[in-house]
Amino acid sequence: MQKPTASQFSAESGYIGRFAPSPTGPLHFGSLLAALASYLDARANQGKWLMRVEDLDPLREPVGSADHILQQLQDLGMDWDDEVLYQSSRLDAYEEVLHKLQEDGLCYTCDCTRPQIREMGLVYNGSCRERAAPPEVPYAQRLKTDALEIGFIDQIQGHFAQQLEGEVGDFVIRRKDELFAYQLAVVVDDAFQNITHVVRGWDLLDSTPRQIYLQRVLKYQKMHYAHIPIIVDAKGQKLSKQAFAPSIKTDRASQTIFKALTFLGQAPPAELATELPKSQLEWAIDSWEVQGIAKVGSLPLE
Ligand code: GLU
Repeated sequence: MQKPTASQFSAESGYIGRFAPSPTGPLHFGSLLAALASYLDARANQGKWLMRVEDLDPLREPVGSADHILQQLQDLGMDWDDEVLYQSSRLDAYEEVLHKLQEDGLCYTCDCTRPQIREMGLVYNGSCRERAAPPEVPYAQRLKTDALEIGFIDQIQGHFAQQLEGEVGDFVIRRKDELFAYQLAVVVDDAFQNITHVVRGWDLLDSTPRQIYLQRVLKYQKMHYAHIPIIVDAKGQKLSKQAFAPSIKTDRASQTIFKALTFLGQAPPAELATELPKSQLEWAIDSWEVQGIAKVGSLPLE
């Protein structure tokens, strides 16, 4: 596979945002909101909006899902800048970063099992930190954390902080099945694409301190964050492919976008409901108010 080249946009380009779906299925209403919010925030700030397909786990990714998502976005009138970056083409870059972390003594091998970690209260207690040689069974690589509090101001949710060692524990950057972990890949690629602003679902708010920590360790640039509410079904479960969330219908694009703008607290005027997606998006870019978005973790679909 051809190696992707660095983004044509640099830090001097100003705002650079992104949408980074995992292609586990078509877009549902919850993932559409993340796409739309990141798109509108970028465009309202005269920014670039990049696309990254987070296809690191082939077993969870039905063939054709990535193309389907990209088609859905196009049908809704959301055009991205630059070429799509596929994480499956970035394995060498992750390997290089892992190697550097190993050389710096910042990560270690761990073969602890899920039941063992459950017994620790789900916060990994660092029991493999002092292991002399890698285990003979499959093992993960964990990044050492420390006791410093990592806090940041989320543009929507406000101040959020975690003390990683005590609240999360040393975390996995390469899994036992040898796949690179989301936390590592997302940080390496946000830096590679020169992302300045991340707008995504609230379920990732508590991953952010881990990502900021990794950015500091790797001496990457800081980023701005905004976490929008996730959409939950009648049982309070996040819309997801696993919970059989229906795919959005792009043959009813105007209706879908109108509903999404309403969920994002943008109060679109009633007459916008029947406009074409492009005009709806133009209106939304002009009147975008990130502070209109509800400062809550989740919103019910109905
Ligand atoms: N790939 C992740 C997802 O689809 C999102 C990653 C991110 O926005 O940081 O849930």
